Amino acid sequence: MRIEKVEVKGLEMKFILKEASPAKANALRRAILTDVPTLAIDEVIFFENTTSFFDEYIAHRLGLIPLKADISSLNLPSECECGGGGCPKCTVVLNLDEKSDVDYRVIYSSSLKSSAPDVQPVSPKIPIVTLMRGERLNLQAVARLGTGRDHAKWQPVSTVSYKYMPIVTIDQEKCDSCGICIQYCPKHVLAEENGRVVVRDLEECSLCKSCVRKCPRSAIEVEGDPTCFIFKLESVGAMPPKQIVEMALNALVKKLEELKKYAKGILEAVVI
Ligand SMILES: [Zn+2]
Repeated sequence: MRIEKVEVKGLEMKFILKEASPAKANALRRAILTDVPTLAIDEVIFFENTTSFFDEYIAHRLGLIPLKADISSLNLPSECECGGGGCPKCTVVLNLDEKSDVDYRVIYSSSLKSSAPDVQPVSPKIPIVTLMRGERLNLQAVARLGTGRDHAKWQPVSTVSYKYMPIVTIDQEKCDSCGICIQYCPKHVLAEENGRVVVRDLEECSLCKSCVRKCPRSAIEVEGDPTCFIFKLESVGAMPPKQIVEMALNALVKKLEELKKYAKGILEAVVI
């Protein structure tokens, strides 16, 4: 497998995965979704909640707030020397204590005060709850590392998808440049150049084959390359998209090494 043409725009990333197969592309997609550890609020202790929202509702909302953190300085609870009981190496505490002396006040993620200065919500403007006059919310939230395998709140991306690299073939002998294919392509992949139909932007093609169906002379063919994929992903902001892909690939390598070891063990047992 090879990764080429990496484009990063803010939290979004696009790249071409070459010399792969659908199974390998899907393994990478799943590793990005489920095997990259991220930090999320996992436990909330409510000291006071006089708002109109249930504790469970607020806890759920807090869990979904993406947290920016240096993952390398934290351990997964299952791998921590404390045995998962909770220590500064595997947990981060965030406190929130707000009340309202106006009729309507929105409490945002900026109200979460972290025990570790480098752990903060990715945006200070994520709404948590609204408080009416006289209401108070006082809680302590515990954030832990986890993976998307256990809960979607630990997914490092809001979306990750791939599609086959399109192969668009225009038979210039059959084509009379009527332009119907250009007109019907919803992604504006085709264009006219010097009286001939040409591919303008191949990667935009969604393989819908509208052009193939509409061409009166059957001069155009569209298919997907099963060895080449266009990947797109968007980080939730907890870490840069490039780091997510690197960590997912490392997770895959680790799993494959474990599988190799396991298979070798079975083989040796059979030989004996
Ligand atoms: Zn620990």
